[in-house]
Amino acid sequence: MASETQDAQLADFGSCCEELNQVMSGEEFEPLVTVGGDGILYMSVGLIDIEEEEPGMVDHPVFYCPFCGTKVQDAEAIRTQLDAADEAEES
Ligand SMILES: [Zn+2]
Repeated sequence: MASETQDAQLADFGSCCEELNQVMSGEEFEPLVTVGGDGILYMSVGLIDIEEEEPGMVDHPVFYCPFCGTKVQDAEAIRTQLDAADEAEES
């Protein structure tokens, strides 16, 4: 069951159109468009083979809704956030 915090994020990203709203609710299937733990909306774009493990999903941040074209995230802001996260991991 989703927490109240996740519900708020999902409602936010699914507010532009019915299609994305359905994907974000994910009631009938496992969505490939999901909100990460960092609050960024990601879309799975492929599978990657990790040795001795199940294939992993390759995610990419989504800047525009794939269904209606509404801008859902700012590319510059996302890159800044991801760069900051990378630097935090390295140090
Ligand atoms: Zn949309």
